Amino acid sequence: MNTNENRPPVMSRRELVASAGAFAAAGMIADVVAKADAVVAGVEDRATSIKITSVTPFPLGSKTLIKIQTNHGITGWGEISQLPPKTVIALLESMYELLDGENPTRVEYLWQKLYRAHRDFRGGAFMVHTISGIDMALWDITGKLHGVPVYRLLGGPTRDKIRTYPSAKAVKTAPGMPFPYSGDAIDVQELVKRVKDARKQVGPDGTVMFDCHCQLPPPILIQFANAIESYDVLWLEEPAVPGNIEVFKRLKQQIRIPIATGERDRGIWEVIPYLQNNCVDILQPDCGHGGGISQLRKVATLAEAYNVPLAPHSILSFLGQSASFNAVATIPNLLIHEFYPSDLQGVLHRKWDVDKDGYATLPEGPGLGCDVDEDKLVKLSAEIGMKYKWPGAHYKDGAIADY
Ligand SMILES: [Mg+2]
Repeated sequence: MNTNENRPPVMSRRELVASAGAFAAAGMIADVVAKADAVVAGVEDRATSIKITSVTPFPLGSKTLIKIQTNHGITGWGEISQLPPKTVIALLESMYELLDGENPTRVEYLWQKLYRAHRDFRGGAFMVHTISGIDMALWDITGKLHGVPVYRLLGGPTRDKIRTYPSAKAVKTAPGMPFPYSGDAIDVQELVKRVKDARKQVGPDGTVMFDCHCQLPPPILIQFANAIESYDVLWLEEPAVPGNIEVFKRLKQQIRIPIATGERDRGIWEVIPYLQNNCVDILQPDCGHGGGISQLRKVATLAEAYNVPLAPHSILSFLGQSASFNAVATIPNLLIHEFYPSDLQGVLHRKWDVDKDGYATLPEGPGLGCDVDEDKLVKLSAEIGMKYKWPGAHYKDGAIADY
């Protein structure tokens, strides 16, 4: 039996000092934990008590910027793309019933609430383009509330920069406006010349893309695609009207150039048939058309599962572009991003830049990384806000054309 077992333990000086340090450290830890608790409690209070107090549309012709305000003084901005301004204003006014007083940081919940609010209205361009702008604004608020770029809330960046086009080494060409295809050889030769010129422009190490704009009937498209194989085209975009899976399948069987589409497909539900039928090589979701940042990331994940890269479409201003950049900054399967600079006559100030090779820096937050000059916006909106014309493409003979 150990005779020492009932004695109080004897500690060496070193142990005593260590023990005292441990007590002191424990006190410090308790202090730190208490402070952290206070911070967490503060964040929770701030994040859980924030409420939407208004949504204001600023129509600018074929796009509308929207401002969502909150009771915490934090404002979020979004961009609604391509819709007639009268329609956007009416839709927003009606949909605000679903947003009034809600917590803007519940982005996914509010996306679902808007999308599924009426069983007969689910989906479609008018609803989803509008939700896309709202989704951007909600992410903007959430990023600003937490003081970080939105991509930090989406899992963090998977890349340091984002490749964009057009650039000095990457260009896209197209058939031009609709014209009737006779099937004559000259029609195909004219299209081939466009590709040839584009290749000459970027050089042998550059990137050439061709946007069919759904304007080429399949027989001509197949002839054309065969004729341009030697020009090493990265993709043929929108070879057929979106959603016509059987046509895509037929084209995929007969064309050796990669096929891209997706700028007019809304959300995961319109994208998945292309993937399941293995009839596209590259997906091109648009942050402003397909459901905002929330859906763009989901589409990227679906595509990732099928090993299909994303080349997001964009005709958005700096604001919508910032939203799309925040989304693609976090995905693993980005190929290239479309980008045409548009500050809306000095209204928008982006917190990112694009270098001479077409690489964009990640947007600096907090929020989306794009500031809005509201005074200039009000003036511009008063000037051009309600001007809108439906494109209504026709062929020369008066027939309706796809575009
Ligand atoms: Mg296109």
